[in-house]
Amino acid sequence: MENNSNVILKKQSAYFASNQSKNTKFRIEQLKKLMRVLKANENLLNNALYKDFKKSAFETYETELAIIYHEIKLAIRKLGSWSKTKRVSSGLSNFPGKSFIIAEPYGNVLVIGAWNYPYQLSILPAVSALAAGNTVVIKPSELSLNASQAMAKIINDNFEEEILHVIEGGVEETTVLLKHPFDFIFYTGSTAVGKIIMHAASENLTPVALELGGKSPAIIDADANIKMAAKRIVWGKFLNGGQTCVAPDYLLVHQSIKKELILEIENQIKLIHGENPMYSEAFVRIINHRHFQRLIKLIDKEKIIIGGNTCENELYIDPIVLDNISFDDEVMQEEIFGPILPIITYEDLDWAIAQIKDRPKPLALYLFSNTKKVQQKVLQEISFGGGAINDVIMQLANSKLPFGGVGHSGMGNYHGEYGFKTFSHHKSIIKKTNWFEPWFKYPPYTKGKLELIRKILG
Ligand code: NAD
Repeated sequence: MENNSNVILKKQSAYFASNQSKNTKFRIEQLKKLMRVLKANENLLNNALYKDFKKSAFETYETELAIIYHEIKLAIRKLGSWSKTKRVSSGLSNFPGKSFIIAEPYGNVLVIGAWNYPYQLSILPAVSALAAGNTVVIKPSELSLNASQAMAKIINDNFEEEILHVIEGGVEETTVLLKHPFDFIFYTGSTAVGKIIMHAASENLTPVALELGGKSPAIIDADANIKMAAKRIVWGKFLNGGQTCVAPDYLLVHQSIKKELILEIENQIKLIHGENPMYSEAFVRIINHRHFQRLIKLIDKEKIIIGGNTCENELYIDPIVLDNISFDDEVMQEEIFGPILPIITYEDLDWAIAQIKDRPKPLALYLFSNTKKVQQKVLQEISFGGGAINDVIMQLANSKLPFGGVGHSGMGNYHGEYGFKTFSHHKSIIKKTNWFEPWFKYPPYTKGKLELIRKILG
């Protein structure tokens, strides 16, 4: 493994040094090829996710492939303008001069993906990295093994290994990879492993983007549209079996509307997933036994008000709602990352805001309220990666919005042009003519010269 990855990395390094990946036509060709390869292998990709999660082809398209296709098309269309050298004004101190910024690729990039949306979380960063002119190694998560194998097959069969290559493996293989002096590392996964990645990267002073997790709250205030809130929350929370980094982790519900909201949530679960979600085509399974066991331990049976059925053989857990939860409950001590929805009640919005602010900055935050003042207050007072008002998750579907966390939920962002920027170094250049040079910047420093630079520099 070490030798094999060494050979590939040396090839990628030599390839980048040859400058071929910097050519915009070349980048567009790679992106077009990626699109062709993915489209031609949709069946393989769908089957792999079905094996990993029992995920339907519909959902694989909706939450994985459609987003990748959109990102590739966007990059192809916009590459010309994104990669164009940008002129900026030079200011008096550089008169007469021209100033510009060149977006240059970092070089050899490592993308480490997570298992919950294995295609999107590995391929989307790779699209941005290729668009920016880098070479890319993808290390998908070993937990979604079938998806990892499918990506390795279709990418490694179709791309030169010096440009884009998938290296499969788990902790051991990733640890070996992390010893290489990559020029950029893009990691998606847990906050705990994010620290390991950042630590390893620091040995080579490699810049990183960390797309991490955490507990993302949804606040449902007294004047929310309850029916719509319940509909959107149920869709977003139980999508992918709750294994979505930006899913609402828990609800903070105003006590005056709690009863009504719970009834609506129950209705919506039945509407979307039927009387028994175990047979719903739209309800995916827990990724493995370790996570199943972890989730079971988070369920306080006394506090279940909706659902409760589980089956380890099937890796199935019902959509479960827990009521009368406090921040001291077990389920509130870690990111849930499964189909369990705790409800915490509040009377005073300031208290709810203070509770969120007392904890690590969330990756996402959702507010259901129709009062502008409340919306402004929450947006102004709480720091979080990104979110939505009166919806969940859908901020991700707009590639004009940067996607990323803050603090413990991550650093750096991507999607659309933000992805291109993340994988580019912005090289600043000032270009001078030779017909003028300000004599007053040179010693000896006189009073007169000081007066002059005070006037010029302000
Ligand atoms: P994880 O951190 O366990 O694994 C992610 C990747 O890191 C995998 O490729 C894995 O092989 C590798 N890895 C694991 N342990 C390692 C170690 N000790 N050394 C080196 N590499 C190691 O995360 P996960 O369980 O796959 O994903 C779940 C977490 O990821 C959740 O917290 C979730 O919120 C977060 N997440 C965040 C985003 C986002 O975009 N911000 C997206 C998806 C998931």
